Amino acid sequence: MDLKEKNCIVCGESNKEGIFIWEAFICQSCEQEMVHTDVMDAKYPFFIEKMKNIWKMEA
Ligand SMILES: [Zn+2]
Repeated sequence: MDLKEKNCIVCGESNKEGIFIWEAFICQSCEQEMVHTDVMDAKYPFFIEKMKNIWKMEA
């Protein structure tokens, strides 16, 4: 895993630490937030919207 900074799709900040879901990078703090909050509540639709944006950009 390389350590280049990548832009998080959730908060838009660049970060070295994080995870990839498909092609999308999510920084560690956002990932932690998703783990610790009720993702199915407020964040999940937001996350899906971000994913749609990713797919549009890739298309
Ligand atoms: Zn983030």
